[in-house]
Amino acid sequence: MSFDSLGFAPDLLPLLARALGQAGIDAPSPVQREAIPPLLAGDDVLIRAPTGSGKTAAFALPLLQRCAQAGRCSAQQLHALVLVPTRELALQVADTLIQLGSQLSQRPRVVTAIGGVSINPQLMALRGGAEIVVATPGRLLDLVQHNALRLETLSALVLDEADQLLALGFGDELAAIEALLPARRQTVLVSATLPDRIAALARRLLRAPHLVEADTDAHAAPDITQRAIEVDPSQRTALLRHLLQLEGWTQALVFVASHHTADTVADKLARNGIGAQALHGTLTQGRRVQVLRAFQGSGVQVLVATDVAGRGLDIPALPLVVNYDLPRAAADYTHRIGRTGRAGARGTAISFFNAASEAQLRLIEKRQQVRLTRERIAGFEPSEAAPAPSVIGDHNGGIKGRRPSKKDKLRAAQAAAKPD
Ligand code: AMP
Repeated sequence: MSFDSLGFAPDLLPLLARALGQAGIDAPSPVQREAIPPLLAGDDVLIRAPTGSGKTAAFALPLLQRCAQAGRCSAQQLHALVLVPTRELALQVADTLIQLGSQLSQRPRVVTAIGGVSINPQLMALRGGAEIVVATPGRLLDLVQHNALRLETLSALVLDEADQLLALGFGDELAAIEALLPARRQTVLVSATLPDRIAALARRLLRAPHLVEADTDAHAAPDITQRAIEVDPSQRTALLRHLLQLEGWTQALVFVASHHTADTVADKLARNGIGAQALHGTLTQGRRVQVLRAFQGSGVQVLVATDVAGRGLDIPALPLVVNYDLPRAAADYTHRIGRTGRAGARGTAISFFNAASEAQLRLIEKRQQVRLTRERIAGFEPSEAAPAPSVIGDHNGGIKGRRPSKKDKLRAAQAAAKPD
């Protein structure tokens, strides 16, 4: 199957196909096959798909056709708004739009509106007019307040990684944005998971949506080998080094619970001759982009990231994801391991756990409907005894069913502050 039969306008199809070819994409992924026709027809679509399924191009291509057909916007107007939870994802979505729109005779102007950098260049860019704005919610509202944008002029809205938008606490900003939207619009909601609050959001925002689910096609399921290794917390960095060397991983994305751990682990690896860098929310935006580019360009072998920073990362052919700390929310596990095994490539996800975090691992297994074989690595066998039930889960800041108390959080922060 090719992109020819999805309903693109005949005059635009060859231009989009050329850009797709340049991006190395020659056939639509299952999500694209199912989502593009209703989107081109103007319908609302709810897409349940993780990163790596081709979801970005699935909504980007119809947006590009819409812009090409609607013509230029003047200042304050826009055709389409893509809301994303993180700055990194905003940059990646904007890159995809620019890349896939590069062959159109009138390339849509894409403005990225993200926090953590000066607002002035964004104000300037919008003054010149933009057809598509890719934004994080807070900065978008700032721009609206500056009269740089009028949301009632848009005709298409995308909420990408909507579950993360809510998980990161953007509920209030979303409500404020919702109040400014025009009633007549096309809306796309993309989410890796569809918990109740996303279903409620979808009911509010979407009209008679088509539901597209990434894994309705078994072949689309990413090929990820999941492993669980039991190891004492104090041995994790040494074990990570050992695995990188012994198993010859060329690149790895390592998830940790705090920015402090990210710095400590990256430093330790670097001191042992492994090209490693930390990526977390307290770095400046410029530094984050620099680290990401180095990792994408293979200048850095290991990226040690917190969840927020690691979301939205798109590194083609990333072979390995390591959960140095298990994620506290089982849904984050899906997001983390979805960074590997992308677009048909093979991937491996290794989770470190110990007696204190095994309950959390079991919860993740239940959600994933998998049962992972517990591995122990020679020379790194755990020495800890199983904890009393009352402290199960404390290592990761609490388990599901019980919200972590302040004390839990403090303990988790202290544990995370001691990576070795
Ligand atoms: P996503 O995060 O789901 O948008 O997936 C993005 C990754 O999948 C990028 O590396 C794209 O280049 C790649 N991709 C998107 N669509 C396709 C496709 N139809 N075939 C192969 N790779 C694709």
